[in-house]
Amino acid sequence: LFIVIEGLDGSGKTTQIEMLKDRLQSGGAACYLTAEPTELPTGKFLRSILQKKVAADPKTVAALFAADRIEHLYHPEEGLLRKLEEGYQVIASRYYFSSLAYQSEFADPGWIASLNMLAKRTLPADITIFLDLDPEISMQRIAARGEEHELFETREKLTHVRESFHLAFEHFGEGENIHIIDASGDPIDISDAIWAVVEQKLQ
Ligand code: C5P
Repeated sequence: LFIVIEGLDGSGKTTQIEMLKDRLQSGGAACYLTAEPTELPTGKFLRSILQKKVAADPKTVAALFAADRIEHLYHPEEGLLRKLEEGYQVIASRYYFSSLAYQSEFADPGWIASLNMLAKRTLPADITIFLDLDPEISMQRIAARGEEHELFETREKLTHVRESFHLAFEHFGEGENIHIIDASGDPIDISDAIWAVVEQKLQ
């Protein structure tokens, strides 16, 4: 299976991905965990832009995210297609819905959608989980984590991104298996909710 976990910063993606991996592994599955931006060259370059070490126009950023995703798909050793072919259960932190949610703030959403069609046509996720969280709680969690660069997030921005995710699911979600899960509660309950979706798909 190819499972994508989407959500705002602070929504618990990392925690939930680890918990899902443990559950899959205890059932005997081999798991491959991956994330966007990737650790491949384009992804590294994107991180330096996100950390404001390098300046780039938002449209360039949108194109770079699409390029990073192409590498993510097709990389001969570490690519998603390769890992799925090798029989891994692949869990990705973020995929093209993140591009629609984040990059459409500064560029035409229709153009962003077209940039992401290749991935959607080539490899839509078997399951997309959106960890839905009130931006207020997300802000508190980011602050508690104390990662300096992330404190630049504002409530307005997170509110916009959350709305953009919901719009992207509406407009770009055709034929997809999207599950919106309330991420405000106990991580174990959230993990149970995710597992219920995955278990059903595994059968
Ligand atoms: O998921 P992670 O915290 O590693 O994402 C890092 C940052 O990358 C996020 O805060 C988000 O602002 C940004 N991002 C983005 N567009 C994407 C994916 C991530 O702007 N498509």
